[in-house]
Amino acid sequence: RAKAAGRNTIRFFDPSMQSEVSARATLEAQLRCGLRDERFLLHYQIQVDREGAVIGAECLLRWRDPQGRLVPPVAFIPLAEQSGLILPIGHWVLQTACGQLAAWSAQTETAQLTLAVNISARQFRRTDFVDQVLTCIRDTGADPSRLKLEITESLLLDDVEDTVAKMIALKARGVGFALDDFGTGYSSLSYLKRLPFDQLKIDRSFVLDVLTDTNAAAIARTIIALGRTLELAVIAEGVETEEQRDWLAAHGCHAYQGYFFGRPEPLDSLSLDTPKASL
Ligand code: C2E
Ligand code: MG
Ligand code: MG
Ligand code: MG
Repeated sequence: RAKAAGRNTIRFFDPSMQSEVSARATLEAQLRCGLRDERFLLHYQIQVDREGAVIGAECLLRWRDPQGRLVPPVAFIPLAEQSGLILPIGHWVLQTACGQLAAWSAQTETAQLTLAVNISARQFRRTDFVDQVLTCIRDTGADPSRLKLEITESLLLDDVEDTVAKMIALKARGVGFALDDFGTGYSSLSYLKRLPFDQLKIDRSFVLDVLTDTNAAAIARTIIALGRTLELAVIAEGVETEEQRDWLAAHGCHAYQGYFFGRPEPLDSLSLDTPKASL
């Protein structure tokens, strides 16, 4: 056993380590092929306003693995980020989402909908990120003011100047920004004033406990109040029950997303009518 060779020896022969390395290599190779073979797809989850009307959707990435199973992002995005594959994958997501937006715009019933797209830090940091977004918009004919990019607090921590510059450049073309998973990171509130966000997204973990945990409730209330102060819309993610929706509505939340209104679904099963859960 390599372990017996001494503390400073790299354990090349640890079998569990070996299998982990090869599992990662396999997954990476499969993801690479997945891009070429069009094995990525988007699911869409509706977002509703206080009246229960559908105002837009968030697109959520899925991967169809070689066994045909639908794999959620948690199982492949971390590796895609480490390997850099998130760059071509993220580009595909943007291109596909913009194409969908353009298709919605062409029909009166869906013309008003917005579409939110998750952007990974690595993708956002690329020097050509702004160009990439603008090119997708131009190539597809999407209305930039219906496109909303979701970024997380981790992005605000490093290189604020770069973040501000890119956001301002895209904002100038009409693109919107939402701060995803808000409340879970460590961003300083002073950044929020400097960055041209349009929307704060209350993280699912607070929504989940809003009726049972006073801390979660206090955080949700604070985010809603902050939105009011900074004149940002506030959307709650992960709304699963009527009671959670009612609590959020009573505290002034503007919009909602979650299983109570609809799960992420393929486009063809998506119901963009006012959902059953309307007020
Ligand atoms: P997120 O952007 O915060 O997306 C919300 C996640 O919560 C989604 O998980 C969604 O399916 C789930 N969700 C929505 N409503 C409910 C609910 O009522 N209850 C519960 N329990 N869950 C709910 P999903 O689709 O597995 O995505 C996970 C994360 O993966 C996303 O979190 C986002 O950070 C990332 N992601 C998804 N698509 C993309 C993408 O295209 N690019 C990048 N870079 N990241 C993505
Ligand atoms: Mg998101
Ligand atoms: Mg989120
Ligand atoms: Mg979240």
